[in-house]
Amino acid sequence: MRTIAHLIGGTATTATGTRRADVFDPNTGRVQAEVVLADTADVDAAVANAAAAQPAWAATNPQRRARVLFDFKRLVEAEIGSLAELLSSEHGKVVADSRGDIQRGLEVIEFACGIPHLLKGAFTSGAGPGIDVYSLRQPLGVVAGITPFNFPAMIPMWMFGVAIACGNAFILKPSERDPSLPVRLGELMLEAGLPAGILNVVHGDKAAVDALLDNPDVKAVSFVGSSDIAQYVYSRGTANGKRVQAMGGAKNHGVVLPDADLDQTVADLVGAAFGSAGERCMALPVVVPVGAKTADTLREALLPEIAKLRLGVSTDPDAHYGPVVSAAHRDRIESYIAMGVDEGAELVVDGRGFTLHGHEGGFFVGPTLFDHVRPEMQSYRDEIFGPVLQMVRAETLAEAIDLPSKHQYGNGVALFTRSGPAAREFAAKVEVGMVGINVPIPVPVAYHSFGGWKRSAFADIGIHGEEGVRFYTKVKTVTQRWPGLDANAAVTDSSFVIPTMK
Ligand code: NAD
Repeated sequence: MRTIAHLIGGTATTATGTRRADVFDPNTGRVQAEVVLADTADVDAAVANAAAAQPAWAATNPQRRARVLFDFKRLVEAEIGSLAELLSSEHGKVVADSRGDIQRGLEVIEFACGIPHLLKGAFTSGAGPGIDVYSLRQPLGVVAGITPFNFPAMIPMWMFGVAIACGNAFILKPSERDPSLPVRLGELMLEAGLPAGILNVVHGDKAAVDALLDNPDVKAVSFVGSSDIAQYVYSRGTANGKRVQAMGGAKNHGVVLPDADLDQTVADLVGAAFGSAGERCMALPVVVPVGAKTADTLREALLPEIAKLRLGVSTDPDAHYGPVVSAAHRDRIESYIAMGVDEGAELVVDGRGFTLHGHEGGFFVGPTLFDHVRPEMQSYRDEIFGPVLQMVRAETLAEAIDLPSKHQYGNGVALFTRSGPAAREFAAKVEVGMVGINVPIPVPVAYHSFGGWKRSAFADIGIHGEEGVRFYTKVKTVTQRWPGLDANAAVTDSSFVIPTMK
């Protein structure tokens, strides 16, 4: 059995922890490897190793730090095909989608290559007589990232790209369900010239997360995962005096107005609801048609497109989506479909019990469509995170704005319309962090920042973009006075009042 080890101080190691977790191939349902799970001592050793390496990295000029990222990008691009296959083999998403996962991460690496410019401080010459003021951004030291299974390339790169460019050392605790790709990214960073210890990859579960949250040398924690755990990480991390950004779950709505381009909207909804088996925090699992006629037309148009969806193993180039990540997750999704039926929603397409010929053990869930879903239903209020599209009918634009605004989650939302004024009203009023206008999956580009609202984010500051640079640095402001060239100038008297700029 293959063992997936930690990467600490530039070396693969199983460290001292004795616990292991199975890593499955979701296409077949079989265990394909085991991953080591760190205990507190392993995490503390990785943090100590990073802390020892970090000062020299912080002292390396930002242009040289950026060159490592340039080289890393080149190395990742050179083997993106095999990296995507590795990712898919543990996650289950189709290989083309895994390439997208890696590519979106690389876009943040490209952004981080601009770190010399991003770290430039501010300078005021002559703020007072002989007085200049300047501010600079300094790294925090050792920072950590705890990431979910669904984007094992993009989300680690969102974090470590920016953190390392800023001069920090980074401990990555990836999901234990698909840990191989994050380790390979760590190896490629070393190949690109990153000093050992600046990116340590430590596998584990709650014990490893708690050890990171409690270690005083970890100055900041970035987390992406489900909301209850995000809230827990935020509370425990901030109680321990750390800076924390913890992104949580989602239930994104796609609102469709009567004037929307129907064919394009249907194509966008099907891709965003069922792509990656719905295991995306920016998926569109809820559609809100405005007006009964829009709802009926949309439903009729969706049905043949859903019927055409092809499920397959992740290496099948013709598959639209592959298996979900685990048997437990498949069962959870199917229990939510049963709940929807019990709650009185109309099950129009039922994806339960799907089997793929030749891969009967795989974790597949067929596409599912509900109509007449009501906001009070538990199956609507919760995140299902599977290939399940729920239609909630609204009468007016105001009602359609209210639904995502009053939902516990506020990650993403999309509006489909040809009306500028309606789009403007929607974007201004909706209580959601990331908005798409005729864009189904509005994940911001790397130089803007990612972050939802409400229970989708326990954070005061977003991920990547300039907010990412702010998160991973602290500002120091220096006020300096140089005596004039006249050596005989009179000494200024002591002052016992707060200095002001008269
Ligand atoms: P998860 O919450 O189960 O796991 C996330 C991380 O937390 C993993 O590294 C895991 O090892 C760790 N963890 C698990 N249980 C823990 C515990 N009890 N205590 C401490 N740490 C623990 O999430 P997941 O299933 O891997 O990912 C799917 C979830 O992530 C969905 O809810 C999805 O919406 C969310 N997500 C959010 C975003 C976003 O940006 N808002 C992006 C991607 C995924």
